[in-house]
This record gives sequence, structure tokens and C-alpha cells, in this order.
Amino acid sequence: MIIGIPKEIKNNENRVSLTPGGAKELVKRGHTVYVQHNAGVNSGFDDEAYVAAGANILSSIEKVYDIAEMIVKVKEPIESEYKLIKPNQVIFTYFHFASERELTYAMIESGAICIAYETVEKEDRSLPLLIPMSEVAGRMSVQVGARFLEQPQGGKGLLISGVPGVKPAKVLVLGGGIVGTNAALMAAGMGADVVITDISLPRLRYLSEVMPPNVKTLFSSQHNIEEELPTIDLVIGAVLIPGAKAPHLITRDMLKHLRKGSLLVDVAIDQGGCFETSHPTTHADPQYLVDGIMHYCVANIPGAVPFTSTLALTNATFPYVLMLAEKGWEKACREDTSLKLGLNIVKGKVTYPAVADTFGLNY
Ligand code: NAD
Repeated sequence: MIIGIPKEIKNNENRVSLTPGGAKELVKRGHTVYVQHNAGVNSGFDDEAYVAAGANILSSIEKVYDIAEMIVKVKEPIESEYKLIKPNQVIFTYFHFASERELTYAMIESGAICIAYETVEKEDRSLPLLIPMSEVAGRMSVQVGARFLEQPQGGKGLLISGVPGVKPAKVLVLGGGIVGTNAALMAAGMGADVVITDISLPRLRYLSEVMPPNVKTLFSSQHNIEEELPTIDLVIGAVLIPGAKAPHLITRDMLKHLRKGSLLVDVAIDQGGCFETSHPTTHADPQYLVDGIMHYCVANIPGAVPFTSTLALTNATFPYVLMLAEKGWEKACREDTSLKLGLNIVKGKVTYPAVADTFGLNY
């Protein structure tokens, strides 16, 4: 198969979808790999490393889309890429269709086969291609939280850990999945008082068994969240309803319960955000204020640490890339039920029910 690796063009997105190691494996099996000039450079892989692995370098994104049967990416195509996508081309990447009407309709129009990383799902319902980035984003959310609680960054001027004689920060984590668990562990490791919520009692039971003593579990309800808000310094939004828009767990009206200068980090922004007042931001301009409450809503948090994220992501995606290259998308999806669940749009038709429901389309 001919596989194309474009350079990511979303703001501050420095990951690349294939390492030279992955390219070498594909080439060894008889596939052809085209990598856009400098696609991997910000993740620590220069063109020479890909050439040494047997890949070919192309000078422009147009050439990569033009020649490839399958495009492997990291982030969803942005508007300038829509016209480059061809009918019957396989696009394997994160799409997050439910929160992007324009992208959804552009991909329906394209006639391409869109396989979304985020809906590839194992039998135990885990999401193997979301997990590594959720681990990174969860850990980063506390790191950025610490930064934007500093006064020169516009925060209230609070050290998460406190110091002897001064209390640590109080952190509320909404959603106890992969992002939430990693965030809670980091915040707890820094010494914060942490409350983690979920609607799943089995998950809360598990968390209460494995978390350190400075993490308390709480059932997620509007009442419980409202009761917590007056004492909270940092809220991490980490809920997910697979394939659907995130629920608004903190409404604009509820902001009044927080103290001024508190910080909301909405990791779930790529699914629309779990705070009513969230809108997507970029690493270049990450935060904004609403009613005196700081919001940080970067939709590609792992893009800031590409050296780590690229390796974490490609460890998980590569087995599927190989499967698609070896068997073609139809056979690969027939034989692997996890991969089949990644099919979101196939040649003009939405095939993933939650996405179709979001836009009132048939599937
Ligand atoms: P996950 O499925 O592991 O966890 C989500 C958790 O939310 C589940 O435990 C679920 O029970 C819980 N939940 C659902 N509704 C809830 C509610 N009303 N209240 C409390 N909990 C609720 O998902 P994840 O991998 O942790 O991902 C969380 C979100 O972070 C997703 O939207 C994902 O797309 C996003 N994400 C964003 C970035 C970024 O860069 N911004 C990176 C990675 C992941």
C-alpha cells in the first residue's frame, strides 16, 4: 500500500503519525511510505531518519495527499486539507466528528473512508488509541494548572503543593477515566487535596482502592459539584460519553460558586467541553477569563510535548496502521472488530451511530 504522512498543520501541533521505526517496518513488508518534508522534525525525527528507514520525502502536503492510498495523521483535517482528500482514500486519524459539523460534512462530501482513532474500541470497551494521549493530557492538565495558577500567567498566585504551614490547593477532577485518573495522580503527587468524581460506581470503587489518601471520590451530580466549588482552586474537566458531545457539568451560572482566580482546565474540549463557558483555545493563546474565572481549553494538549506524545501515540496506532496496510481497510475491519468501530464515515455515509445522531443523519 502507498502510505502518506503529512506534516500536521494545526496550531502548535508538533506530533507526527509515524516514526522512522514504523516506516522501516512498513517498507520491510513491501509498502511504500511518503513523508512530507519536516513532518517529524518537531518530534525529534528529521527527514534523514525517514530516508534511512526507506521512506521517501515529498516537498508539499499536496503531493502527499495526491499519491497516498492511505493518509495517517494525528489531528483531524483542517479546512485547507478538505479539498486534498480524495474519494476512496483511507484517512486514519483523530476526527472527533461529534463536535465539528463542518468537518463531518466535508468528510461526507469527500467520499473518503474515515477511520477515527477515538472510536476504535476493544471488547472491554476501552479505547486503545485514546488512552496514550489521555495519559499525556491528564498528566499535563495539572502541569498547566500549576502554571496558570501563577500570578504572572494571570492566575491567583497559588502553589499547588502549599508549603509547611500553608495548605495545598484543592483540585476537583470531573470524570475518573484515563485523563481523570492521571490528573488526580499528578495533583496528589504534588500534595494537593483532590476530589475525583464519576457517574460509574464501579469506577469510583476502583479509584478509592488505588488512589493515595489525599484523593477522595465523589459521585458526580450537579448538587455535589456545586457543593465542592466554593473551596476549589483548580477544576479539571475529564468526562467522556464516547462519540457524543460532553455534558456541561459546570454552567455559567455555577461559576459564581467559585472564588475569583480559580482555574478551569477543560480537557474534554475536543468533545465540545464540559463547562458551558468553554471554547477551544490554542497553545499560542491558551487561556481566557469568564466572570473572573480563568479557563484553559486547549484541544490538543499533548501537542505541546511531542517528543513524549509521538512515541506514546505511535506505540498504540502502529499495529492498526500495519493491519490496514497489509489487508486493506475492508478486510482489516471485517477481521478486527475494534478497528471496525473506528469507521465513522465511509464513502459519503456516516457509519458511526453517535455521530449520525448528533447531526440527525441516517446510518
Ligand atoms: P474515559 O472514557 O477514560 O473517561 C471518561 C470518564 O467520564 C468515564 O469514567 C465516565 O464514566 C465519566 N463520565 C461520563 N459522564 C460523566 C459525568 N456526567 N460526570 C462525571 N464523570 C462522567 O475518557 P478519557 O480518555 O479520560 O478522556 C476524557 C476526555 O478528554 C475526552 O473528551 C477526550 O477526548 C479528552 N481528551 C482531550 C485531550 C486534549 O488534548 N484536550 C487529550 C486526550 C483526551
